[in-house]
Amino acid sequence: MKKLGTLFMMMVLAAISAKAALAAPPADTLAAVKQKGVLVAGVKDSLPPFGYIDEKTRTIVGYDIDFVRAIAKKLGVKVELKPVTSASRMPQLQEGNIDIIAATMTKNAERAKVIDFSDTYFVTGQKFITRKGAVHSLKDLEGKRIGTAKGSTSEQNVKKAIPSATVLSFDDYPQALLALEQGKVQAVTTDESILIGILDKAPDKSKFEIPSIRISDEPYGLGMRKGDKNLVDFVNKTLLEMEKSGEAARIFNKWFGKYHLQRTFKITAGI
Ligand code: GLU
Repeated sequence: MKKLGTLFMMMVLAAISAKAALAAPPADTLAAVKQKGVLVAGVKDSLPPFGYIDEKTRTIVGYDIDFVRAIAKKLGVKVELKPVTSASRMPQLQEGNIDIIAATMTKNAERAKVIDFSDTYFVTGQKFITRKGAVHSLKDLEGKRIGTAKGSTSEQNVKKAIPSATVLSFDDYPQALLALEQGKVQAVTTDESILIGILDKAPDKSKFEIPSIRISDEPYGLGMRKGDKNLVDFVNKTLLEMEKSGEAARIFNKWFGKYHLQRTFKITAGI
């Protein structure tokens, strides 16, 4: 009986460690991606023009997606897109459910302790959507209810910039915009480039505006697992080639041209 019990315990332990081994992310994601023939990217699926579902094709398209596709093409592999939220993207990467994050993600020192980032492939800054004429300076937002997304830099920045505000954090920004439309918050805050995209899709957009109040700089990077050097090098090489060939600027104009947004940056090695 005792022997059987020990055997059972050993089998359970073996099963647990086999599962752990299966789930563990590869040490060299670049080699693993080549081997499986697919690059799995964590992307946003409701944030035009970065990642959103195209009504005609029912597929996720956008600025972030075009960069993922260019990287996969260079690698000669297919792409699988997995929707993530601001809060879920780092855990998803660390758990090995995705190979790379391409999801409106700001590079900062705090996050860089946990994951590695590519060179900057987009630059924006944090602003607000408010009712037209309601807000002229940060003072007008003091003590107000402001919507944003959980796990974002926007959430952290707005708490610092307006400590008297009540910050309501949603899963993603479209829900925050809905709360603004319903009068539950007085402003929505995140990166200007995201605000422009979600406001453009809003049916009652003429009632709202993005005042020229900017509270931060937000350089975006593609996120990869800490120490995944081969993938980081490959991605950076591809980004630089895309800058040089003009492809990166073409992608920018494809998605932001209609909003008359200027490309104020260039993809540069080491930045
Ligand atoms: N870029 C900011 C961030 O990484 C805000 C947008 C987002 O939540 O993805 O947190």
